[in-house]
Amino acid sequence: MITIGIDIGGSSIKAALTDAGRRILARTLRPTMAYSEMEQTFVQIHACIEELLAHEEAKDVAGIGVGVPGAIDLEAGVVFYPPNLPSWGEVPVASMISRRWDLPVHVDNDANCAALGEAHFGAGRGRSHFIGLTLGTGVGAGIISDGRIYHGQRGFAGEFGHITIHDDGPLCNCGNHGCVEAYVGIRYLMQRAVPALIADEGSPLHRSATENPEGLTPKDIADAAARGDGTAQRILRDTGERLGVAIASAANLLDVTTFIVGGGIAAAGDPLFEGIRQSASSRVLKVHRDALHILPAELGNDAGMLGAASLML
Ligand SMILES: [Zn+2]
Repeated sequence: MITIGIDIGGSSIKAALTDAGRRILARTLRPTMAYSEMEQTFVQIHACIEELLAHEEAKDVAGIGVGVPGAIDLEAGVVFYPPNLPSWGEVPVASMISRRWDLPVHVDNDANCAALGEAHFGAGRGRSHFIGLTLGTGVGAGIISDGRIYHGQRGFAGEFGHITIHDDGPLCNCGNHGCVEAYVGIRYLMQRAVPALIADEGSPLHRSATENPEGLTPKDIADAAARGDGTAQRILRDTGERLGVAIASAANLLDVTTFIVGGGIAAAGDPLFEGIRQSASSRVLKVHRDALHILPAELGNDAGMLGAASLML
């Protein structure tokens, strides 16, 4: 089955023509233009589709899957006020695309698509139950149950980033205190990292943290940790430990013991994953302990696009 998968991100639109998601036959990338009128974003989306449909293999295309960062009415294919697309209100994405191209269109949340992508083509292959986590500005998750996305009663399942891990912890973007995201989301992570790096005069990041803290990125911390900087390693390990608290709760609640972790900070590697494993394993019920698998995601930035292409399957 030939399908098109489109991942609408805050800065770019990634799209691919795939063979049942298995192979990428062609791909393209355009700017989202998130701060222009919504119509401008659709001009870019349609241009991606037009380009992919021009390929020889596209003559039998079965449909289009779209991943969007926001809450979605799955039946209607309507997206509600995605925070990273400020000019969007309630947008009937599925009908706007299917009307133009006369093809079936399925829409789902970007974190769900990323998990589905890993399920079919990445670290989740051969695993029927897992939770795929995407660590970025926010902390997204897709719950894969029996090989399918678990949507919950109204389609909003998977808000892993807003699980409370500390009842009077720091204020989260959602208005609650002590959410996972308020520790692990990039902005919050950097807010805690900068004072630690300023306090450590021996750290290679001490100077940039002191002089230009805004210029510091999670990648700088990951790189410093990889080169052996103790403070950077501690920051990442601590981040992993916070994440592990919520992972243990999720495992106990859902009887899911595989967690596939991707997104920007996940590239930080060992200290982060050691922190997650140690913390989750010490908290999870004994019955789950030996079954706990914390794995790095494999598809990087392609996960959402490949998962969107798999929505038709
Ligand atoms: Zn929150």
